[in-house]
Amino acid sequence: METMNSVAVMEVAPVPDPPFENATPLTPPPPTPLEALTLRRSARCLNMPRRPSYAEQERPKQPSGRGRGGDKRKIDEESPEPQVTQEAKKPGRKAAKADPGEREPMPVIAAVPVSCAGVTGAAAKDDVMGSGKSAKLRVKETLRAFNSHYLHFVQEEQKRAQAALQEIEAKGCLKRQTKGGKNKGSKQDAEVEEKEKRPSKRPDLKAITKMQETNAVLYPEKRIGHLPGIDVGDRFYSRAEMVVLGIHSHWLNGIDYMGVKYEGKKEYENLTFPLATCIVMSGIYEDDLDKADEIIYTGQGGNDLLGNHRQIGSQQLKRGNLALKNSRDNGNPIRVIRGHVSKNSYTGKVYTYDGLYKVVDDWVQNGVQGHVVFKYKLKRLEGQPSLTTSEVRFTRAEAPTTISELPGLVCDDISGGQESIPIPATNLVDDPPVPPSGFTYSKSLKVPKGIKIPSNIIGCDCEGDCASNKNCSCAQRNGSDLPYVSYKNIGRLVEPKAVVFECGANCSCNHDCVNRTSQQGLQYRLEVFKTASKGWGVRTWDTILPGAPICEYTGVLRRTEDLDGLQNNYVFDIDCLQTMKGLDGREKRAGSEMHLPNLHPENDSEAPPAPEYCIDASSIGNFARFINHSCQPNLFVQCVLSSHNDVKLAKVTLFAADTILPLQELSYDYGYRLDSVVGPDGNIVKLPCYCGAPDCRKRLY
Ligand SMILES: [Zn+2]
Ligand SMILES: [Zn+2]
Ligand SMILES: [Zn+2]
Repeated sequence: METMNSVAVMEVAPVPDPPFENATPLTPPPPTPLEALTLRRSARCLNMPRRPSYAEQERPKQPSGRGRGGDKRKIDEESPEPQVTQEAKKPGRKAAKADPGEREPMPVIAAVPVSCAGVTGAAAKDDVMGSGKSAKLRVKETLRAFNSHYLHFVQEEQKRAQAALQEIEAKGCLKRQTKGGKNKGSKQDAEVEEKEKRPSKRPDLKAITKMQETNAVLYPEKRIGHLPGIDVGDRFYSRAEMVVLGIHSHWLNGIDYMGVKYEGKKEYENLTFPLATCIVMSGIYEDDLDKADEIIYTGQGGNDLLGNHRQIGSQQLKRGNLALKNSRDNGNPIRVIRGHVSKNSYTGKVYTYDGLYKVVDDWVQNGVQGHVVFKYKLKRLEGQPSLTTSEVRFTRAEAPTTISELPGLVCDDISGGQESIPIPATNLVDDPPVPPSGFTYSKSLKVPKGIKIPSNIIGCDCEGDCASNKNCSCAQRNGSDLPYVSYKNIGRLVEPKAVVFECGANCSCNHDCVNRTSQQGLQYRLEVFKTASKGWGVRTWDTILPGAPICEYTGVLRRTEDLDGLQNNYVFDIDCLQTMKGLDGREKRAGSEMHLPNLHPENDSEAPPAPEYCIDASSIGNFARFINHSCQPNLFVQCVLSSHNDVKLAKVTLFAADTILPLQELSYDYGYRLDSVVGPDGNIVKLPCYCGAPDCRKRLY
């Protein structure tokens, strides 16, 4: 928590629900140079995940080339170069007017020549495409766009299955009526029903196709060596994510390669194609051997892909197998990605980029049952970050230490038993180590007597879960669809919205209805920890998926006008009204300084009026008050309404914008406006930002 380190040391007072009358600061904070300032975080939509653009759908269809669907590729294991659809490269598309939410057409990236595609690759270089964004940020945005498409398709698929089910039920009713209760066709019906319920196409494959059609694949041209923005140790949650980044462009095959179409290009003179660029070690083939820095890799083909991956036929020296052999002759580096089993991943696997290797040997072997199998020996290039770090972190993440064994433990549970999962605090920075202090934990918002939260809307009359009710009035308040999907029991917001309307006290649905996703309480094991330069921070022990809610920002609800003159770094403006009034949505606002909140609106005629209410977490609050600012955060702020329609009093809720891996710190954009903080001497006060993001604005305010 920036600037809050100086607060006097006090015991945490985890008294559940203190009488509200005592909610003013327990001890006055010590005087600091910023005494008269109230810093206000903003609930505006900053740094939100991008909404995917559907503009492409309305365009006339290109003469059909190949590959609209991913399902075709499923059985076409050795199809040459099916990855990037031909349509995506037509120059005519670039001229089309871009929707505000649509990403810039991606210029073709010159592949790194083999001679310099060594270990000191371009991964650290910023702004390789001249867009002003770091390569890391573009990786992040690409994954966010993919995840958003993915959730849309999950939702679409669930709706389709739901409709099919209802149709079957209706037919069943009809049949029973006409047949007078006879139950003859029921087995057949059950089969039809089972078939109808099955997804016609996997949502991840649909999302890949969508990304290709909208030119949103980050590196559509194949490249040799490291890719900018992707570091050794980076992890991916599915093969699909790797396809949309372009680090490995095939969602099923193990070997990615440049086909013969690259032959004759100037930068590839003297090379023989096809040429391997990347392999995935899935760990499921019986003949692979992995000694970390040295791999014996089995060629592709001849496997029983639908069964247990056993060798059922001979392999041929073509495509990927030939590419690996050519790579040995050419001596080009090959990216190696390892898959690990993970119960945290929706695919059941996590993939780690382990850096560059070279093929140093190859031979033919008679595999199990005498089938011909190609073997390749790869050696890791020297001078790369070591492999062990990612494996150690990975293992720890799967089985974290118990709370009592945590190094630097200063508090077993800062929530004092209020949260369903304890939140320990650790301090390995201060000597002696001190716990966070000076506030009272409260997992819910405290509303003073003078402010009344209305509860006047008419709720829906659904039974069970609103997702299975066609005419849910709460769904209609959100447009037409519920804002969440539940997949494998994890509710996720499909996309950020100006306001999310959840089911509430006046609805008759179940308490675990998907449209109450943000009301389910803490779902993850978190830890509050002392950082070296940013005060306290919060990190997760569990994997958090994009769109999953983290928590409400709690504290004391206050009128903005009542706040002035107090030193306070914990104020969060409820200003989603401004968000809704915004010119054309969040795309313009994201990252644009012009729209950042203004602490002194009277100095700026364009600034919106100050929000009427805010949340003050200086003396009462939950763990959200410890979450640090980042200019490239992994959380975003979402306003949520449930029992009323007054956006001035909306709940301020934090959601995951990205896949957040175990031990990563949580962060969101505080949204302070630069040059807007004026000290007692009349000079502008500047605070450096320590978030460390490649696109850091360098100052918090
Ligand atoms: Zn509901
Ligand atoms: Zn409902
Ligand atoms: Zn409802």
